[in-house]
Amino acid sequence: MDKKRGIGLCLCGMCPSYVDCKEEIAYCLAKQGTSGCIKEEQGCLCPGCPVQAEEDFSHVYYCTRGSETGQSHAR
Ligand code: SF4
Ligand code: SF4
Repeated sequence: MDKKRGIGLCLCGMCPSYVDCKEEIAYCLAKQGTSGCIKEEQGCLCPGCPVQAEEDFSHVYYCTRGSETGQSHAR
């Protein structure tokens, strides 16, 4: 989906792990990389997110572990 739409639906801002450093959320849709400021995994809301459901994504902690594409290609 369109990144702008994903950002609008993204639950990261309400997540206990989230650290606000004014970067773009919807980490699952990112082309590459992880968050520059979220370092500690303290819970993840992605399993309940409409973006996750709509895109049929299967991972969590996109902010610290990388996007859906990134994690899908990791070994
Ligand atoms: S699945 Fe996670 S990273 Fe992706 S939009 Fe939803 S809350 Fe944000
Ligand atoms: S990717 Fe998951 S853990 Fe990271 S901020 Fe979003 S909901 Fe929280």
